[in-house]
Amino acid sequence: MPEPVVIIGAGQAGVQTAFSLRDMDYSGEITLLNGENFLPYQRPPLSKSYLKNSVTDSSLIFRNEQLYESKQIEIMQASTAIKINRQTKSVSLTTGEELPYGKLVIATGARNRILPFDGGELKNVFQLRGLEDAKRLRLELQKKPKIAVIGGGFIGLEFASIAKELGAQVTIVEAASRVMARAVCPTLSDYVQKVHLARGIEILLAQKIVAINSSSDFATDLQMHDGSKLPCELVLVSVGIIPNSELAEAAGLTVSNGIQVDATLHTSDPDIFAIGDCACFPSDFSGRNIRLESVQNAVDQAKTVAENICGTSTEYGSIPWFWSDQSDLKIQIAGLTSNADTTVVSGDPATGKFSVCCFTNNRFVGVESINHPADHMAARRLLAAGRKITVQDISHPGATLKSLAKS
Ligand SMILES: Cc1cc2nc3c(=O)[nH]c(=O)nc-3n(C[C@H](O)[C@H](O)[C@H](O)COP(=O)(O)OP(=O)(O)OC[C@H]3O[C@@H](n4cnc5c(N)ncnc54)[C@H](O)[C@@H]3O)c2cc1C
Repeated sequence: MPEPVVIIGAGQAGVQTAFSLRDMDYSGEITLLNGENFLPYQRPPLSKSYLKNSVTDSSLIFRNEQLYESKQIEIMQASTAIKINRQTKSVSLTTGEELPYGKLVIATGARNRILPFDGGELKNVFQLRGLEDAKRLRLELQKKPKIAVIGGGFIGLEFASIAKELGAQVTIVEAASRVMARAVCPTLSDYVQKVHLARGIEILLAQKIVAINSSSDFATDLQMHDGSKLPCELVLVSVGIIPNSELAEAAGLTVSNGIQVDATLHTSDPDIFAIGDCACFPSDFSGRNIRLESVQNAVDQAKTVAENICGTSTEYGSIPWFWSDQSDLKIQIAGLTSNADTTVVSGDPATGKFSVCCFTNNRFVGVESINHPADHMAARRLLAAGRKITVQDISHPGATLKSLAKS
């Protein structure tokens, strides 16, 4: 009989692992520990359509209850793992239960980074990570408050665009000199920033918040490092995430910017894997250890782990891709482009539909597209095929990513 598999965390990566195991005919017991009290759900819509009330709670759910039953996946709701006991190969739960495993998959995701000063506890200061957060924010947005968004990353910008659409006054405060600086090249940052400014969102760059001023448990204004103040009625803190790696660390597994795994996604214990937002893996694509925060990475790592539990020795080597929807901008990124030193624009930004091809040390590393899914898909094909396209190739008159992918 195959060994029992326990999966800690029923998010994108955990749920995918369970179903992929069954798709691969794994016949051992599968237990999925869900730290939350809802059926597992997708997070991307929480900063997008869900805030506008255009999708229901039930449409967020990955699979309905009957599917877990029919696939014999035991999902334990509101069950948090508090300890991994490697000697006895078991997991201790908050409920007092002790769950034995043959193989353990840690898919604990991440939590929001908090600000290094007081204010997070105030009644009108919010974060956005889970369904409860999104529910509260959706309700608040109906009041069309004056909003300060701390952090101009993907989630901050997505939230800001919806809030603006719903009639709020929105200011984004970003510590870096451009928006989405951690993930995209300056050309894309500049373009997206201009679009948001044109829609009436105020963006303060290179501005550091040093305090949240309050009165009667409510934030009243943000205090900037230059002494200025930004009055607000609602604050969204969106300053990145921290991997949930404490369980692994306490169990003596190697941890550095997340739970360290090898190319086959094993941790330093051969019976324990880590995947998704919480895992730091050796990326062939980038030539270093990285941690990715994306649906693609969670899903593809889950499939690799399922294959390895089923007995193969598969290395994880998917091409990274990501998307973000901000008002009518569909941003799609293929590859890893944040360290690009050379960029070439393909198409005309004036049309609102174009791509930026990115190179590092003359190596083609990815493409950032605005409203151009065909370019995005062509870029993924080029990267997957390991095609070494050059700056000259894409700069050639008439050259497109699609034509290069076909040639
Ligand atoms: C608002 C929002 C919008 C996003 N938009 C996009 C997007 O547009 N495109 C994109 O590619 N990605 C997007 N992402 C990122 C994407 O959702 C994540 O990368 C993905 O969910 C990671 O999957 P995961 O399984 O690793 O982690 P999660 O989906 O976060 O799941 C981890 C689960 O583990 C649980 N858990 C943690 N500790 C324990 C424990 N001790 N015991 C039991 N359970 C535990 C957590 O409660 C959680 O449910 C977005 C994320 C958010 C929050």
